[in-house]
Amino acid sequence: MAKRDFYEVLGVAKGSDDAALKSAYRKLAMQHHPDRNPGNAESEATFKEINEAYDTLKDGQKRAAYDRFGHAAFENGGGARGPSGFGSDFNSSMSDIFDDIFGDFMGGGGRRGGGGNAAKLRGADLRYNLEISLEESFEGRTVEIDVPTLVGCDTCDGSGAKPGTGTHTCRQCNGHGKVRAAQGFFTIERTCPVCQGRGQMMDQPCTDCGGQGRRQENRKLSVDIPKGIEDGTRIRLANEGEAGLRGGPPGDLYIFISIRPHDLFQRDGADLYARVPIAMATAALGGEFEVPTLDAARAKVKVAAGTQPGQRVRLKGKGMPVLRSKDVGDLYVQLDIETPQNLSRKQRELLEEFQRLTTEETNPTSDGFFAKLKKMFEA
Ligand SMILES: [Zn+2]
Ligand SMILES: [Zn+2]
Repeated sequence: MAKRDFYEVLGVAKGSDDAALKSAYRKLAMQHHPDRNPGNAESEATFKEINEAYDTLKDGQKRAAYDRFGHAAFENGGGARGPSGFGSDFNSSMSDIFDDIFGDFMGGGGRRGGGGNAAKLRGADLRYNLEISLEESFEGRTVEIDVPTLVGCDTCDGSGAKPGTGTHTCRQCNGHGKVRAAQGFFTIERTCPVCQGRGQMMDQPCTDCGGQGRRQENRKLSVDIPKGIEDGTRIRLANEGEAGLRGGPPGDLYIFISIRPHDLFQRDGADLYARVPIAMATAALGGEFEVPTLDAARAKVKVAAGTQPGQRVRLKGKGMPVLRSKDVGDLYVQLDIETPQNLSRKQRELLEEFQRLTTEETNPTSDGFFAKLKKMFEA
């Protein structure tokens, strides 16, 4: 018997992403799991077939080889795979679905959809990483982004059926959408695996989307970045994720914000910190300078006479806006005092003269410190 196409086995389109593959695989594996179909040889064969298809397609390299050469890619020299088609990867995919099977058996009532909608699947959530500047976080703004996603197919209106074609009653369940299987003393009724509970099958899938009801597209979206947003914040755009399968509801889009490091400012919540070097003489005599602020203005920083290294000046209300509030943080300017170097002869003479005149009053900290040392040496 000719081997079935792996995509056909999983019921997905050739370009399907990993999430779609996984979701299709889980669903089928649950339906055909030997535990649920004891003694059913057909189910067992299908189960093996599903696993082999998924094992190949979930692996990027194997998938690429399969896409190019089909089954021939694994027929020569593919010794890793046993005759049953169960490779060493088999166990890993089993653990993938184990929780689901277990949960499905134990939890009960957790069936997706219900009634005729079981085959409609919610679209996957998407993540989009957006890097912005500190200035953009300060001002807030609207950013245009391009999101590669799956959108509803216009040709079939998302249904997956070729327009103008009809449906026929599912031969597996005769239109009931449910099939019965004996399990020990019990008869278990479950969703029909062929029509996924719809009772109807489409005569022909839509040729534009391969029956998926959705297709790949780059969507343009504008995202409002609120003032004061912080690094690592997640913005959720409901229903802006991938379109659902065959008309199912869409997923959500999550924008993950990261903020580029700034040349001058470090941020801690709503407060900003900047380190500014000042000349030794300015620190001793006092003075004034300006720093740029995020509102594209400037702020005056007053240096008090006798400023010590590391001392901070607080500029109230010159920090970041607080998200969804009228509050604004502060800007702290830390003064780093620079010791002069490459002195001219004249400068050296003046500093030597200055040193001779240094007293306990001009340098209280070091004077006190050396007095303590002297005491320790004498003890
Ligand atoms: Zn379509
Ligand atoms: Zn059916």
